[in-house]
Amino acid sequence: MTKVLVSGACGKMGCEVCRAVYEDPELSLVGVVDISHIGEDIGESVGLGKLDICIKNDLEATLNELKPDVMVDFTNPSAVMNNIKTAIKCGVNSVVGTTGITVDGLEEIESLLKNKNVNVFIAPNFAIGAVLMMKFCEKAVESFPNVEIIELHHDQKVDAPSGTALKTAEMMSALQKKDIFELPEKEILKGARGGKFKNIRIHSVRLPGFVAHQEVIFGSKGQTLTIRHDSIDRVSFMPGVVMAIKQVQRRKGLTYGLEKLMDL
Ligand code: NAP
Repeated sequence: MTKVLVSGACGKMGCEVCRAVYEDPELSLVGVVDISHIGEDIGESVGLGKLDICIKNDLEATLNELKPDVMVDFTNPSAVMNNIKTAIKCGVNSVVGTTGITVDGLEEIESLLKNKNVNVFIAPNFAIGAVLMMKFCEKAVESFPNVEIIELHHDQKVDAPSGTALKTAEMMSALQKKDIFELPEKEILKGARGGKFKNIRIHSVRLPGFVAHQEVIFGSKGQTLTIRHDSIDRVSFMPGVVMAIKQVQRRKGLTYGLEKLMDL
């Protein structure tokens, strides 16, 4: 049995993770941390009935008390780095889905893990379909170097662009040929052409009704190719989260991206 603590347990993703961990016969939900609903039973909050697992707000004390094998973090971009550092300090492996971690942040985590017997797994997108979308985009960009990304998320997502969009752009730009169509810049409305990662434009839409969606449009003379992935329910992320929880203990140091756990 792998003992799991969920940080951000009362959030939209955290609730889903609590249910997925509870329902998996190889995992045991031992503790939950959040900054709201302190003292309540997490089972009652996520519709599983009474579990006698109380929501705590002190991550370090709870990790030291419960000694889980893995902490799963779905909090927010301003909390996540501290939470990862706390887990490393307590000798607990982390599986992190919270987005907004910078390249500098990743380097800092990597250096904190040196000579330590503790691991961190981070994925900007835990949906297996989204990982496949990124892989298909890598293939497509070899033939279609002109490409733009539109990512669409719910109205409470604070960071833009999404971690998935940035990762897709990073993966494609490494393979993008040089013959890229470029217009002289003339934005009548600032931002109308989106943000730019190297040669790839990214457009972020935030509206109620969406969960997490991304469309990657490739254009060439007389044709376009669109690759799209839609997470229409947060349950779509759970097989990836469970896979990471089960593998993080044997993947040394920092692992970034769900594709590292998949045989693609
Ligand atoms: P959410 O509903 O706002 O949930 C975040 C939860 O964390 C809230 O209950 C929040 O409490 C709590 N929290 C904030 N600071 C905390 C701290 N220091 N310690 C413990 N708990 C804390 O957000 P969400 O939609 O679940 O998303 C969470 C994160 O996951 C976001 O960064 C999102 O972009 C990311 N995400 C990643 C994936 C992926 O596949 N990697 C998929 C979906 C979402 P309050 O509400 O009181 O602030």
